[in-house]
Amino acid sequence: MPLVRYRKVVILGYRSVGKTSLAHQFVDGEFLECYDPTVESTYNKMLMVGKDEFHLQLVDTAGQDEYTILPPSFSIGIHGYLLVYSVTSLRSFQVVKTLHNRLYESRGKTRMPVVLVGNKADLSMESREVKTDEGKKLADSWGAVFLESSAKENQMTRGIFTRIIEEIDRVDNSYCTE
Ligand code: GDP
Repeated sequence: MPLVRYRKVVILGYRSVGKTSLAHQFVDGEFLECYDPTVESTYNKMLMVGKDEFHLQLVDTAGQDEYTILPPSFSIGIHGYLLVYSVTSLRSFQVVKTLHNRLYESRGKTRMPVVLVGNKADLSMESREVKTDEGKKLADSWGAVFLESSAKENQMTRGIFTRIIEEIDRVDNSYCTE
């Protein structure tokens, strides 16, 4: 019987960037135009990445800003992070920078598996405020993966969750070879 691996991932970012929409699209395969602001919910989903099966537990958070104090539950027992901003909001991009710094400090400056997600890319033509290049540069400076996405698209959303699982394995394995 194949081994099922457990991975716990937290989704962080400014409010209204699409954290719940991404989780919901991934778990239930649909996009809703309107959600109640999330308090905090946890989703569980099984998925195959390569030949391995994973039990992914996702923590969808209420949303943070520059002043939010991150609770210890966001660093203890967490395998990886999705840091989400909206390409239509410069403020949300500033917020992910602060969040990354805080997490890095709280985890004792050890390497963290991170996927930086620039969401709402479908609104790019009308209302983009953050260039693709800026997102890419920021992720590179962290040694993280960068993706732009739209929670309206199932395949794109699925790609994000696959990448975080791959990233968790990559960071883990690089510890072993050092
Ligand atoms: P959260 O507060 O970060 O969890 O954001 P929500 O998932 O509640 O989304 C906030 C609003 O943005 C909702 O009205 C969503 O329908 C909308 N939204 C989320 N993701 C996208 C996206 O990729 N494209 C577009 N056009 N709208 C989105």
